[in-house]
Amino acid sequence: MAAKDSPSNSDRGSSLDPSAEEIRRWGNAAIKAMADYHGSIRERRLYPQTTAHQIRERLERALPAEGSDFETVLATFQDAIVDLSRHNAHPRMFGYVQAPGAAIAAFADLLASMLNANLTAWRSAPAAVELERLTINWITKMLGYDRNSAGLFVSGGSTANLAALAAARRAKASEELLSKGVRSLPQEMRVYVSEETHHSVAKAAALLGIGRENVRIVRVDERFKIRIDDLVAKIDEDLKAGHLPFCVVANAGTVMTGAVDPLAEMSGIAQQFNLWMHVDACYGGFAAMAKSVRPLFHSIDKADSVALDPHKWLYLPVDCGCILYRAPETARATFAHEAEYTRVIAQEAEEAFAFWDYGPELSRRFRALKVWMLLKSVGVRTLSKAIEKDLACARHFEQLVQASDDFEMLAPVELSIFCFRHLPVRMKQALASANENTRRQVNEELDSMNERLLVELQRDGSSYLSNALIHGRFALRGCVMNYRTTSHDMEILLNDLRRVARRLKVKVSV
Ligand SMILES: *Cc1c(COP(=O)(O)O)cnc(C)c1O
Repeated sequence: MAAKDSPSNSDRGSSLDPSAEEIRRWGNAAIKAMADYHGSIRERRLYPQTTAHQIRERLERALPAEGSDFETVLATFQDAIVDLSRHNAHPRMFGYVQAPGAAIAAFADLLASMLNANLTAWRSAPAAVELERLTINWITKMLGYDRNSAGLFVSGGSTANLAALAAARRAKASEELLSKGVRSLPQEMRVYVSEETHHSVAKAAALLGIGRENVRIVRVDERFKIRIDDLVAKIDEDLKAGHLPFCVVANAGTVMTGAVDPLAEMSGIAQQFNLWMHVDACYGGFAAMAKSVRPLFHSIDKADSVALDPHKWLYLPVDCGCILYRAPETARATFAHEAEYTRVIAQEAEEAFAFWDYGPELSRRFRALKVWMLLKSVGVRTLSKAIEKDLACARHFEQLVQASDDFEMLAPVELSIFCFRHLPVRMKQALASANENTRRQVNEELDSMNERLLVELQRDGSSYLSNALIHGRFALRGCVMNYRTTSHDMEILLNDLRRVARRLKVKVSV
């Protein structure tokens, strides 16, 4: 092991430009750490019992004037970072919409950084750009999207939704929008979303100068899907008031309950009112590969744009979002610009291709490599099976809850998200009371009890859930998105909840 001040090291400029031998040594140490990590993931405490202070204590805080050897740096990574992290690859990590991070992608990320390809345009990274175009094409096939569509990888779903809204607005406004800004618009432009739509859409509207107040919130039905009657009513209302309806956003899997909006009906409405239809499929999109839910995605090919997150249900590590456009020239009209320093000089059309014409970013890392390596090494059949198993796990949990006498479901399971709460028998009886005041009081107690149960479960470290608000009530919420999760894990989750609930001293006043 080379000491940090050994002559050989300092002579050669230390770690900045390591020899091939040194790279091999670092690699072996890092790969061993990775193999140990994946090998022991199931046994790990899912969430660390730690504080900000404790983490800081484990990190040397001073800006390093001199370097340290790789082993020392790797040891700090293990002690301070790995040991004090939430382990997203754990089979009972059910919080938020969290992928495990397939191991193959760690190699792809390593090799992508090795090549340091910058995917601005074809001439900057010929092979990498071709690989991204191929991979995007594969994704359109997996989804059943239009054959002439195109798109690109972006940092995540939020950026994908932003790009879609920008393209939608440009498509329905005059060209002046890009030169003169929103003051060139004769009318307020309005976009329609359901109550369950991800907040990144409203954020995109705010950033683009559309304005949050021009995001019309449409009501949902009892299955948390957008209500077509309310959608049409809001469009009519806006037309009468002289506004310009320009876009409707459909959910293909909401983050709260996993609801998929009626895509065929929505595309009909979009056509009728000349609206751009965008589908936010960041959570649910890849479930289109699973036979049991495929019909839900029928008509997704009619959408003008689709936002996806391969860093969710393709099990990849962050970051990797994706935006697809049915007619790529609409995106080009939005994002292309004529600055001299990016002008492509006299090349054939294919080689003149530039990703900067289709999205907001210029420098872009080689995200396609991990998508390509995953698809090449795993294959679509295995991925579809893994997604099908995630769906089955969520349904199994729903059945467990329905068969129990101390839990209840708060929303139907559509994909792999389940929303439920702990409902002890004595409180269930009180809920059946005829007195509305009593029921309200019990519901409030259930809210606070379930909230404490969630915090205790997270601290406990065996299973991890997050929360949702369902009809104004606090819900425990889980999302199965991990090829390691089995139906047995769903049983463990319920047992963990019961074990933790016994520890809580629940005060019941009724
Ligand atoms: C995750 C998610 C987003 C945001 O995506 P990021 O990758 O976190 O930026 C948007 N919409 C839905 C439905 C999502 O699940």
